[in-house]
Amino acid sequence: MTTENTGPQALPTGSCCGGGQAAAAPSAAAAGDDTAVCPVMTGSTVVKSVAEAQGLFRDHDGNRYWFCCAGCGPVFDADPARYATAV
Ligand SMILES: [Zn+2]
Repeated sequence: MTTENTGPQALPTGSCCGGGQAAAAPSAAAAGDDTAVCPVMTGSTVVKSVAEAQGLFRDHDGNRYWFCCAGCGPVFDADPARYATAV
């Protein structure tokens, strides 16, 4: 009966950004300075206020970086210099 139990934190397979829940609305780009580009998943637009509310940001070398999803934070932490220079 419970053969589908994969754990409480089970994530969808594939890209961490594949869900598109946060970036589903094209009109989000109209927010202007409230948006940023995820340094890990370049091309993914991030709404700063939403990312900060979820803890999806890092302050590195005097700059702040926002992430498109929870999976990008640890990736940034692993090599912040790499991603900081990519933006
Ligand atoms: Zn991501």
